[in-house]
Amino acid sequence: MALADMRPPIESGCPDGFQYMHPVMVKNYGNWHYHEHPRPGVLLHVAHSGDKIWTVKAGTQRILDVFTLRKLCQIGDEQGEGFVRFTLRSNIEYMVADEAKVEPLIKALEDAGFVVGGTANSISTLSHTQGWLHCDIPGTDASGVVKAMMDELIDDFKNCRMPNRVHITTSCCQINCGCQGDIAINVQHTKPPKINHNLVSNVCERPSVVARCPVAAIRPAMVNGKPSLEVDEKKCICCGAWYPPCPPMQINDAEHTKLAVWVGGNHSNARGKPTFQKLVAAGITNNPPRWPEATAIVKQILKAYREGARDWERINDWIERIGWPRFFEVTGLPFTKYHVDNWRGARHSLNASTHIRF
Ligand code: SF4
Ligand code: SF4
Repeated sequence: MALADMRPPIESGCPDGFQYMHPVMVKNYGNWHYHEHPRPGVLLHVAHSGDKIWTVKAGTQRILDVFTLRKLCQIGDEQGEGFVRFTLRSNIEYMVADEAKVEPLIKALEDAGFVVGGTANSISTLSHTQGWLHCDIPGTDASGVVKAMMDELIDDFKNCRMPNRVHITTSCCQINCGCQGDIAINVQHTKPPKINHNLVSNVCERPSVVARCPVAAIRPAMVNGKPSLEVDEKKCICCGAWYPPCPPMQINDAEHTKLAVWVGGNHSNARGKPTFQKLVAAGITNNPPRWPEATAIVKQILKAYREGARDWERINDWIERIGWPRFFEVTGLPFTKYHVDNWRGARHSLNASTHIRF
């Protein structure tokens, strides 16, 4: 085929966002003067031109069926001005340039069973990894944990009672797309994988499996005359990283797949530098369908944060000020050997200061 006959590649990528934006937002792009927070779930942006736009935010369940999506869009067409956007945390936002539409829009959303909130110093919707719906390595389902916890935290989504914003995340494996929030609920595998040697030679790409192990614990081996793999259990950190290229190595089970809670992760550079989260509770029973043990721990942490942090302190700022020993005291969480950071880079995060904390 001559080069001239070849079809050019279709560059899809992210579509131009301006075509979906409210006309007031397009007109005032980059020219906003200030914003206010008239009530939980509503933001008001005022442009230098004097134009105003109100944003009404409602939580959704993220994995949306087409009927719910149609309902949300219908509300936007009938009560709003036909413009919506979804946030990173699965909330839907409606933009209106007429203040008189704000209250009827909120009423229509609440009448249809949606919850308005998630702005300013509230608890935003838990961010949600793919779980069993799309991914090949989950140790539990993220959607269920999100639903169970948000049912318990709904009043703090609807109201702004926290010292600052709280981002909570879930992660259904130990290594990939979840985690890193003010509070993160992550899967924790507690035993090395078990290998079904009869299947490995038929199913697995052994070099890929060996290459994926971060601590070089997997080696090729011949078992019963067939090519297979072996795991050095002394080295294994039970991360589950090998799973996509090798399903015959199983690490999940009802007893040994646990949840862990980490706190203090922050991507933002707003008041301090970004911070890594730290483990505060390990070996929590992975207990569907309501995960009461993990939810109780998250609520314990939130209660201590709400009572002890100063205005504007995020969870990492609060812990930085009071120190980790005090954090374990005020939350009532037990400090165990599993909390000792023995990672070789830990010297950068260990507290080497003699400053007294208050
Ligand atoms: S957190 Fe892990 S298991 Fe869950 S969707 Fe992301 S990659 Fe998959
Ligand atoms: S669980 Fe992680 S550390 Fe253990 S063998 Fe598999 S990839 Fe390596």
